[in-house]
Amino acid sequence: MSDLDPDLAALPLVDHHCHGLVRRDLDRPEFEAMLTEAAGPSALGGSLFDSQIGFAVRRWCAPVLDLPAHAPADDYLARRAELGADEVNRRLMAATGTQTFLLDTGYLPEPITTPNELAALTGGTAREIVRLEAVAQDVLASSGAAGFAAQFRAQLARRCAGAAGVKSIAAYRVGLELEGTRPTDAEVTAAADRLLTSGGPLRVADPVLHRFLVWSGIDLRMPVQFHVGYGDADVDLHRCDPLLLTDLLRATEPAGVPMLLLHNYPFHRHAGFLAQVFGHVFVDVGLATHNLGSRAPAILAELLELAPFGKVLFSSDAFGLAELYLLGTVLFRRGLGRLLAEGVADDAWTAADAARVAEMIGAGNARRAYRLG
Ligand SMILES: [Zn+2]
Repeated sequence: MSDLDPDLAALPLVDHHCHGLVRRDLDRPEFEAMLTEAAGPSALGGSLFDSQIGFAVRRWCAPVLDLPAHAPADDYLARRAELGADEVNRRLMAATGTQTFLLDTGYLPEPITTPNELAALTGGTAREIVRLEAVAQDVLASSGAAGFAAQFRAQLARRCAGAAGVKSIAAYRVGLELEGTRPTDAEVTAAADRLLTSGGPLRVADPVLHRFLVWSGIDLRMPVQFHVGYGDADVDLHRCDPLLLTDLLRATEPAGVPMLLLHNYPFHRHAGFLAQVFGHVFVDVGLATHNLGSRAPAILAELLELAPFGKVLFSSDAFGLAELYLLGTVLFRRGLGRLLAEGVADDAWTAADAARVAEMIGAGNARRAYRLG
C-alpha cells in the first residue's frame, strides 16, 4: 500500500488496560480531579485545564459535544452538564473506535461501569483483568494465615475463569524491587501471619506476598500486568522504575507467560530495554499518552526506539471520565500514525511495513499476548 493514514483513524484497537466509567454528572472540581493524577486543583497552582491534558480536552473532546475545537473550559463544562453524563459518555466512547477492552476491575472508589456496560457503549467486547491484591485481601479476611496460600490459589483460579489476565499493584505498596525466587508456602504463611496480627487494615504490602501472588498468576498461565511508573499521588515514583523488576523478570522468563509493564512514564526507555532483552515482556505508555497531550508523539517515539514492535501494546488507562478514553485513543492514533508516516517519508520503512506495525501495536500484539482469539 502507498497511502498510510497519519491519523490511523480506522485502526482497530484493543485497549489492554483501562477501568470503568463514572455515570453520574460531575461538578467542576470533580471533573478536574478526575482529569489528572492530582487529588484536585490547587489554590496555588490554578486550574488543571491549564495543562497539556486540559488543552487536549478542549481540542479533541469539544467538537464531539458540538462545540468548536478549543472552546473555553467553562463552555465545555456547561455543554457537558447540558447534555448529561449518559449522552456525553455515549458520544465520546463511540468516537474512540475501541473494539476490545481489557478492564481492571480492582479499583472501585465509586460505582463505575462493569466491563460489559463499558463495551456496550462502543459496540465492542470486554474481558476482565483480575487484581491480585484485591483477591488476596478477600481471602485473608477469612482464611487465617495457615490456610491462605491454598485458599488464595483456589480462589484465584475461580476468579480467572473467563478473565484475560491478572494485575499486580506491588508498585503502589512496596515498590518494584522484588526478588525473583518463588516464595515457599512457609514464607507465605509467615507473611500472612505478620499481616493478620499487625492490627492494621487488611492491606497486602509485603514483598513475599506480592511475589506469591505473581507466581500464582503465572501458574495459571495468566498474563501478568504490573503497574509501573507514575500513577496517582499514592505512588512513590522512585520505587517504580521497571529496572527494579529485573530479578523477577529474569526468574519468570522460562515460564513463558507474558509480563506486561503498564504506563512506564517517565521510565519508558527503561521499559523498552526490558522488552528487548526479555522475551516475555510487553510494554505500553498508557495514561501518559493522554496526560502528555500534544507531546504524546514524543513518548511513543521514545518507547519505540528500543522496544521491538511486536512487544508494544496500546492502552488508555482511562478511568472515570469518557474524555480520557477518547484522548487515549486519538492521541495514540495520531502519535503513532505520524511517527510511522515520517519513517515512510524518510524511506526508513515502507508504507506496507508501517501499516503492518500499526496493526500489531493497535491490536495484534495484545491478541497474541492475551490469546484473545
Ligand atoms: Zn490503571
